[in-house]
Amino acid sequence: DQHILEVHDVTKHYRKRGGGRFGLGSDTVKAVDGVSLQLRKGEALGIVGESGCGKSTLTRLLTALEKPTSGQIRYRGVDVHSAKGAARTQMRRNIQMVFQDPYASLNPRKTVGSILAEPFRIHRDALPEPGLRPRLEQLLEQVGLRPDHLDRYPHEFSGGQRQRIGIARGIALNPEVLICDEPVSALDVSVRAQVLNLLAELQRELSLTVVFIAHDLDVVRHFCDRIATMYLGRVVEEGDCDAVYDHPAHPYTRALLSAIPRPGFDDEPELERIVLEGDPPSPIAPPPGCPFHTRCWMARPDCAHTVPAGHDLGEGHVSHCHFATEVADTDPRAAVDGS
Ligand code: SF4
Ligand code: MG
Repeated sequence: DQHILEVHDVTKHYRKRGGGRFGLGSDTVKAVDGVSLQLRKGEALGIVGESGCGKSTLTRLLTALEKPTSGQIRYRGVDVHSAKGAARTQMRRNIQMVFQDPYASLNPRKTVGSILAEPFRIHRDALPEPGLRPRLEQLLEQVGLRPDHLDRYPHEFSGGQRQRIGIARGIALNPEVLICDEPVSALDVSVRAQVLNLLAELQRELSLTVVFIAHDLDVVRHFCDRIATMYLGRVVEEGDCDAVYDHPAHPYTRALLSAIPRPGFDDEPELERIVLEGDPPSPIAPPPGCPFHTRCWMARPDCAHTVPAGHDLGEGHVSHCHFATEVADTDPRAAVDGS
């Protein structure tokens, strides 16, 4: 029951020049502000939130592209950011990534074969016995492409096919953890389901532990075991997908859920649509108290002063709302008043 990946009270604060008084000083952007998460082997965790909520920064922290300002990220007990030598190489090899944009993330001047060979050039000990080419052909087959596509260039493929190539690169080294940063957001709606099905299949076959970043909840629903909702750099709700989808216990999660259209399900009426007014506040000056209070239709005076603690509703379903139980007990399909 060991955790493969642990995020322990991680913050990432940036200095942004040209802010402060008279534009001469600098402002601090609190991109990630005290996030803790744990993943077990083989589990898929969805991280959901609007753009600017800190999920992209969290991705870069998880893949060691950036260092946290404070806190720790551990892979199999080893600090991802201070690991050295063999431990660092192992860690890098075992945590791989699938990028959001398959148009930008594949070098247009390289053949697919050369792109897929890259991870093996960095990790030479991972070079397969029977030679590289058979392994690369096998990788293409694993993602549903033809082996002779190795000699082609990215522009010869559709968006969905390119993302399959990106996924093949992500699994090339047989990683234990795959971080997927909005892997279908840049794709046509018509091919999203196919790419999601492929990811789900590979997760099962390769027992991958997956962190799945998304900006809406419908993509995560059928793919992930657990979900964490982020708002202004913090996790505001976390739990098993079933619990969170059936009984969202944070007003923000509930708003995101209500935005999912459900055409064709007569027995499953749409949730009363909760429209969030405006954008999230700036992470330079996050509001005091509950970070969501400036947009929350349920906010009461105290919400602007007191930071909500995590309320555990059982089995790891945690909501950072003063009224978590009340929100969870409300039928999510019932009308919401007062908005
Ligand atoms: Fe809304 Fe208050 Fe709950 Fe924050 S603590 S989500 S403002 S009801
Ligand atoms: Mg992003």
